[in-house]
Amino acid sequence: MLRIPCPFCGTRDHSEFSYGGDASVDYPALDAPAEAWLEAVFQRENIDGVQEETWQHLHGCRMWIIVERDTRTHEIHSVRPAHPGMAQTQSPERGPADRS
Ligand SMILES: [Zn+2]
Repeated sequence: MLRIPCPFCGTRDHSEFSYGGDASVDYPALDAPAEAWLEAVFQRENIDGVQEETWQHLHGCRMWIIVERDTRTHEIHSVRPAHPGMAQTQSPERGPADRS
């Protein structure tokens, strides 16, 4: 079972989260050619190892987070808010919340 340490709520079961996709994808401009959008949306790497993924804590704080996870072992290496401004809400001396 995958347990994800939400930086806002603490460690929770993955069933509370919704997978958003590969966090390394750079989406094209809205007026980019259809081929660029096809590439960004459908052509993905099938990484065998550590990758960054977006997840939403749908049944919790509803925040989007970026999870660095090993696809082979499901080990989570790091978790951070997806929006850089939200990282400022995290106290450096407090670290991630863990009210599980
Ligand atoms: Zn949360």
